[in-house]
Amino acid sequence: MSGNAVRLQAIKDVEAYVPPAVSFNELEAPGEIYGMNVFSKSVMQKRLPKTVFKSVTDTIENGAALDPSVADAVASAMKDWALEKGATHYAHVFYPLTGFTAEKHDSFFEPVGDGTALAEFAGKTLVQGEPDASSFPNGGLRNTFEARGYTGWDVTSPAYILENPNGNTLCIPTVFVSMTGEALDHKTPLLRAQQAMAEQAERVLKLFGHDPDRVVSYCGAEQEYFLVDRHFFLARPDLINAGRTLFGSKPPKGQEFDDHYFGAIPERVLGFMMDTERELFKLGIPAKTRHNEVAPGQFEIAPMFERSNLAADHQQLLMTTFKSVAEKHGMACLFHEKPFAGVNGSGKHVNFSLGNSRQGNLLLPGDTPHDNAQFLVFCGAVIRSVHKYGGLLRASVASASNDHRLGANEAPPAIISIFLGDQLADVYKQIAEGGATSSKSKGQIRIGVDTLPVLPTDPGDRNRTSPFAFTGNRFEFRAPGSLQSVAGPMTTINTILAEALDFVATDIEASLASGVEFNDAIQSVLQKIMLEHGSVVFNGNGYADAWQVEAAERGLPNLRTTLDAVPELVSPAAIELFEHYKVFNEREMHSRLEIALEQYILSISVEAKLTLEMGNTMVLPAAVRYQTELALNVGALLAAGVETDTSTLEPISGLISSLRSALMDLGDALKADHAHEIEEEGKYAKDVLLPALTAVRTAADALEGLVADDLWPLPTYQEMLHIL
Ligand code: ADP
Ligand code: MG
Repeated sequence: MSGNAVRLQAIKDVEAYVPPAVSFNELEAPGEIYGMNVFSKSVMQKRLPKTVFKSVTDTIENGAALDPSVADAVASAMKDWALEKGATHYAHVFYPLTGFTAEKHDSFFEPVGDGTALAEFAGKTLVQGEPDASSFPNGGLRNTFEARGYTGWDVTSPAYILENPNGNTLCIPTVFVSMTGEALDHKTPLLRAQQAMAEQAERVLKLFGHDPDRVVSYCGAEQEYFLVDRHFFLARPDLINAGRTLFGSKPPKGQEFDDHYFGAIPERVLGFMMDTERELFKLGIPAKTRHNEVAPGQFEIAPMFERSNLAADHQQLLMTTFKSVAEKHGMACLFHEKPFAGVNGSGKHVNFSLGNSRQGNLLLPGDTPHDNAQFLVFCGAVIRSVHKYGGLLRASVASASNDHRLGANEAPPAIISIFLGDQLADVYKQIAEGGATSSKSKGQIRIGVDTLPVLPTDPGDRNRTSPFAFTGNRFEFRAPGSLQSVAGPMTTINTILAEALDFVATDIEASLASGVEFNDAIQSVLQKIMLEHGSVVFNGNGYADAWQVEAAERGLPNLRTTLDAVPELVSPAAIELFEHYKVFNEREMHSRLEIALEQYILSISVEAKLTLEMGNTMVLPAAVRYQTELALNVGALLAAGVETDTSTLEPISGLISSLRSALMDLGDALKADHAHEIEEEGKYAKDVLLPALTAVRTAADALEGLVADDLWPLPTYQEMLHIL
């Protein structure tokens, strides 16, 4: 089929498409299916010997080291359970630095001599695996002759059954490390960071007179995504290969809002949502679908918050589930941060808090002065950490695709600041001005004596332009992109919080040792924090140009692009921080930087090649055909002696030569023998390839507005965003 025929056929197919019937009445009640495919605590309690169960629970809840002798018992119970659930295979699931999920499947069944097979699954198979790791990025951590990586069972994230028409698989979440124990994945550092944060948070809680349980961090991620019909998706090589459209002009302004598809959720999408919810429930993922779409075709889901390690695994599983359920419903689910230029992009807001079962959420202001003082200390630690390590937070969300979104007046700016709301900001201002120590004057909050004003938790009060906003009982980090794993940002947040809580505990301990009264010690450390780090608090409009200027005056970094941000990973301060809290060693930090750059270069190179190919083989031919048609028309009219002008033909011809020359430039840029150092290659991608592919797009998008519709080869924005 020629280019335009593909598009026209896609439109016909979409119109004729009958979505699969989702018969909701037949579905099991959510209560019955919830967690049915999870090797959960209650399953373990039923199936494991008491001592084994206790030992495993102790590891899960309190971070106790796993007793190796229990592995065989757990493996055997897990196998029996999985076989009853129809599993034929098991897989160690891990989270390599590509950002995707990887798994290696093995059969449970091993042939025995008599021609039959026996299900085998030993403790050591549960605990450790050895996938062929050579194809995953390692940033120099594995030499080629030593391509081995190991997966190790993460007891704190429960195993589950993944259903598949061709047989079910028992999935075991694992860490992925090199032979020398260096992290090759997203999970390992998150577990380490979580532990570092817990130790320091517990130190602080002890100072408040508690005998604390293990503190954990919680994460609730709000995931935005687009749905497009699969027929359109398959007619767009850019969506298939780059995840975003490299061509396509936005429909005329306003048009998207008067379309009848907007507002009501198409039945088809509702069917998809209910189906995904059901699949997520089976996997024990506490999904809560919402659909406050900002752009047409855009939706959101926010599962209930969980411990961050589990939330990170569930988040990955959610994305996989969405992709496969969308396919079943004849759609493609797009997680790219900016699939459509000029249309609102997608983020993944990371809501986080910390706490434990006894002291509850440590970011919840309490009712008593004592609880409030404790809240102010934990919140103060967040303020310090975000100011001191804003660059690292920015680096934790850096990617070529998120660069399209950050700072685009729909997402927070690249400047990392904190929104506290007026009341809380005022409390900290009073603390900075002396609070309890310097004066007894009325109106100053006295820590541990006065209660806090009631802080609003109303979402309406929130500042949507802030990258890091306090929302009543948690912080919401709004910079992460929709495609990213939450593990990276959560690793950074936990580590920088560990440092800040360490600082707080050490300072209070020193004050107490020199005879300072407890409340004064708290006032003193909070005052220090606010004087040094208070400049990160900003309640104003983050989208305003004035903020760019003011932030610079305050000395807050403005790391606009990935290339500006990722070097933060290897700054002396970052290396010292991560080494001190044993989250990354220096080699691991360098490997992360290298992988971030590799991914950046790879994604822009793919886009450049695709742009060249689509420009040459789809857009240019359509434009030339139309040009020919117009030229023939002009010729025919002239021959017939009819007066005519060439005002339709000329702009087409002009744009065609712009397109041709932009394509030539892009082709040359791709061929050029440029830098070989990875940093220089990154710059080349950003400063040469990206502008070159944008130039092609500019000419092509202008042509889209002029070329006859029946000749245009690519499904348009209008079609993709509005026809579901
Ligand atoms: P909103 O729509 O106002 O942003 P939601 O209550 O829907 O608020 O919350 C958004 C996300 O924040 C959800 O994933 C939710 O589970 C999560 N969340 C709520 N409370 C906390 C908390 N204490 N810690 C971490 N995440 C939380
Ligand atoms: Mg929110």
